Amino acid sequence: MEYFLNSSGGRIVYSIIEAIQDNKEYLSEIDGAIGDGDHGINMNKGVTMTKEKLDEQDEVDLATALKTLGFTVVSKIGGSMGPLYGNFFLEMSKAINGREKIDKKVFSDMLNAALEGVKALGDAKVGDKTMMDTLIPAVKTYDKAIEGGKGFKEALEEMQVAAEKGKESTKDLVAKVGRAARLGERSRGVLDAGATSCNLILQAMANTIRD
Ligand code: ADP
Ligand code: MG
Ligand code: MG
Repeated sequence: MEYFLNSSGGRIVYSIIEAIQDNKEYLSEIDGAIGDGDHGINMNKGVTMTKEKLDEQDEVDLATALKTLGFTVVSKIGGSMGPLYGNFFLEMSKAINGREKIDKKVFSDMLNAALEGVKALGDAKVGDKTMMDTLIPAVKTYDKAIEGGKGFKEALEEMQVAAEKGKESTKDLVAKVGRAARLGERSRGVLDAGATSCNLILQAMANTIRD
């Protein structure tokens, strides 16, 4: 299984855009419980502006689409997530620049580049109740699957299970970084908004590649 990065390469980014647009109210509702309730608004603004830019182009390859998404998010949405997701998508784009297709190794490079991009700006670890609770286990699980000789499709499925599980794990956690950390114990009992959006993004990417 391979995913070609020709004119249809932008489909992955369109699937991310749609996933965020469809869940914008939900993401703000979650953020509202222990944050300031704008995560869905922020993310929706970023992806909708990206869609407007991409729609103007006839054909868009994945590296360009990811770069457009990254730049738009970092320059337009603000909040804690603007720079973090900005780096996430920009580093992902750099990882595939000049490539013609995504295979299981290239997808690992993309995931690790995104992870390193976020790590370069934030110091959140697993257990801090952030997007990292989704991203870190997803990347680790994916890499372990391919190192163990699993095929691309199976590795993607394992990554999806790990991402979902990581997102769910944030429900019982006390926030250690970000706005919600001010609440201490009172931040326990609800999902983290960034972990939830990160799960939506990874699920959308994996589902599109597997299609
Ligand atoms: P803001 O908190 O500025 O309103 P958002 O609502 O868009 O920004 O994003 C909130 C999310 O940001 C949190 O749910 C959390 O997952 C994530 N976050 C905050 N700080 C960090 C960090 N240092 N590292 C990773 N993720 C973070
Ligand atoms: Mg917020
Ligand atoms: Mg805010």
